[in-house]
Amino acid sequence: MKINPLRFSETQILNILYKIPSATAIYGDQDFTIDAANDAMLNIWGRNQDVIGMPLAEAIPEIVDQPFLALLKNVWQTGKVYEGTNTPASLVINGVRTVRFVDFTFRPLLNDDGQVYCIMNTAVDVTERYQKLLSNAKTEEILRFSIAAANVGLWHLDVETKRLTVSERWKELFEFSPQDDVTLESAFAQLPEDYQQRIRSEVDKALATSGNYDVEHPITNAVGERIRWVRAIGRVSSVGPEGHTHMSGVIIDITDQKMQDVRKNDFISMVSHELKTPLTSLSGYAEILLSKMSEYNDGFTAGALAKMNHQIKKMSNLINGFLTLSRLEAGNKLYVEKTVFNIDKLIREVIDDQKLISANLLIHLDDCDEIEVYADRMKIGAVLENLLSNANKYSPMDKNIVLTCAVKEKRVRISVADNGIGVSKKDIGKLFQRYYRVDGDRSNSSSGFGLGLYLSSEIIAAHDGAIWVTSDEGKGSTFYFELPLGAPLSAGLHS
Ligand code: ADP
Repeated sequence: MKINPLRFSETQILNILYKIPSATAIYGDQDFTIDAANDAMLNIWGRNQDVIGMPLAEAIPEIVDQPFLALLKNVWQTGKVYEGTNTPASLVINGVRTVRFVDFTFRPLLNDDGQVYCIMNTAVDVTERYQKLLSNAKTEEILRFSIAAANVGLWHLDVETKRLTVSERWKELFEFSPQDDVTLESAFAQLPEDYQQRIRSEVDKALATSGNYDVEHPITNAVGERIRWVRAIGRVSSVGPEGHTHMSGVIIDITDQKMQDVRKNDFISMVSHELKTPLTSLSGYAEILLSKMSEYNDGFTAGALAKMNHQIKKMSNLINGFLTLSRLEAGNKLYVEKTVFNIDKLIREVIDDQKLISANLLIHLDDCDEIEVYADRMKIGAVLENLLSNANKYSPMDKNIVLTCAVKEKRVRISVADNGIGVSKKDIGKLFQRYYRVDGDRSNSSSGFGLGLYLSSEIIAAHDGAIWVTSDEGKGSTFYFELPLGAPLSAGLHS
């Protein structure tokens, strides 16, 4: 910019400079005497008007050890502009040494002969912006470091476009090489076939509920062998910037944990099998003794033998439960052997068995006429046995239990109601989870593994039925289950 010297006096020009909001100063000689400095510049320096007329090194002595004076000297000698960004300046402001970050320019002003006659210094205090930048970079770096340390893979899915974006660790876990382009389909191709459908439906479920996604699944190699297990955790994020729904999350390698689970399952299964053999022979002998007893008129021994038989059955049910659990945990489906039978008869048998061990139990059976179902008799018996023994176990005072049957729309609904300790709202949704037991003195004082309801729900699910509970804490609970009625037409011939 050139200024018409006829129109403005030097003082007027300097006055204009003072009004400029950005920090400006003018050094008029090679000692860098401050000939002008506006308030904004004085503010950055932490000085007042007294410094006008003083050489810069005298006005701000703390800058002597800093690069500014050498830079100014260079600008004066070369006539070239110098620009600095995010440059730290250590200044003594109100007696305190303070570091300010500045973006600044040293611009030489040349006379008609091309000689420098002064340097104009403009500056912007960027301390706040720069510190924010630093802390954001730091946060990002910390996050990156934590993600790397946790060894997790990251994934992000644009649900609308089906575009999948993944991190390098994710690619490594999914058996891709770093340069591979990953699509949703190529990711699915790395899963065993039996898991693909399961995972698609878990994704759909998360999308339908806008909720969380948490699945464990194996990863296969090029020839379809399962080489590792991962846990994928994610969440549906609401609509993104382009109006798309997104899902994102992490995956973790859980192979070691899975292998430990396999060893634990194998152990449970082995122990259960070993226990089962002597128990079967004990049960056989008890049956023989019982039938022999009928020849003698010894009521006491017959009663003791019946109780012994019942305990053997109870132990055998427990062992069968562990065997079923280890099969389910190994990823196998529950095996059900369906026949047509009368569930009302089964209910009466289970009630009689329960009464045998708990003489003070008062079980009232309502509306259970002949009802034919097509189901696994032993496994449904185990469900009934579990519900009745829980009703007894968790009702320390009032031992009245009411059992009902209701037939509706080709389904039978059985209910078992007690007047026991009940279940709180907090726990009710978790009762059917594996190993879940309600915390608290009353239920913890009863023996159990938290498996009965889990196995019952698996058994009922394998029959396309439903199981649920309603409860009033401190007043009692009612457990329900429903099963389809009768035999399907094709099954009727061989059942
Ligand atoms: P277990 O009885 O062996 O602990 P279950 O799976 O049968 O295992 O039951 C899980 C938990 O549910 C129990 O520990 C208990 O806390 C609670 N529960 C089950 N049935 C009842 C009931 N009828 N009344 C109150 N709580 C119950």
